Amino acid sequence: MDCPDCGDERTRVIDTETSADGTSVRRRRECQRCSFRFTTYERPEWDSLQVKKRDGTIEPFDRAKLRAGIERAVEKRNVSEPTVTNLVDDIESALQDRETRIVSSSLIGELVSGRLRDVDKVAYIRFVSVYRAFSEPEEFLRELDAVLDSEVEDFEPATADDQSPNT
Ligand SMILES: [Zn+2]
Repeated sequence: MDCPDCGDERTRVIDTETSADGTSVRRRRECQRCSFRFTTYERPEWDSLQVKKRDGTIEPFDRAKLRAGIERAVEKRNVSEPTVTNLVDDIESALQDRETRIVSSSLIGELVSGRLRDVDKVAYIRFVSVYRAFSEPEEFLRELDAVLDSEVEDFEPATADDQSPNT
């Protein structure tokens, strides 16, 4: 690598450090001619979206896998194929729009559950119970309560008391 200061090609690496998340390597370099010091970053060039799993491993984004997860959640529910396809499309494009090529599996989980919640409450509960891996029944019940509460809000007709005056 040429020195950014004098352009000499004789630069040497004086320090190498891997980033905390393991996705890049930072190197301190020094020019052997003018002693100018600079930093370079080395990252893999991903052609496609990568998913970082909870255990830290990174694997290519797999649309079929995403779809399978959603299909498991909506099994025997009144959710049509096109709805599932739309959901998968939606999530995939949301991920592709991000600047980074690596997304966490938990982010995908949040995106899926956020959309499933609007589509079908039961599917939503099934999905979060799998991906959040509730360890305590209480956690599951708390989530269920939250969903049921919002269901009541969704369907209860507005009463006069609920209407605040427009000021
Ligand atoms: Zn130099």
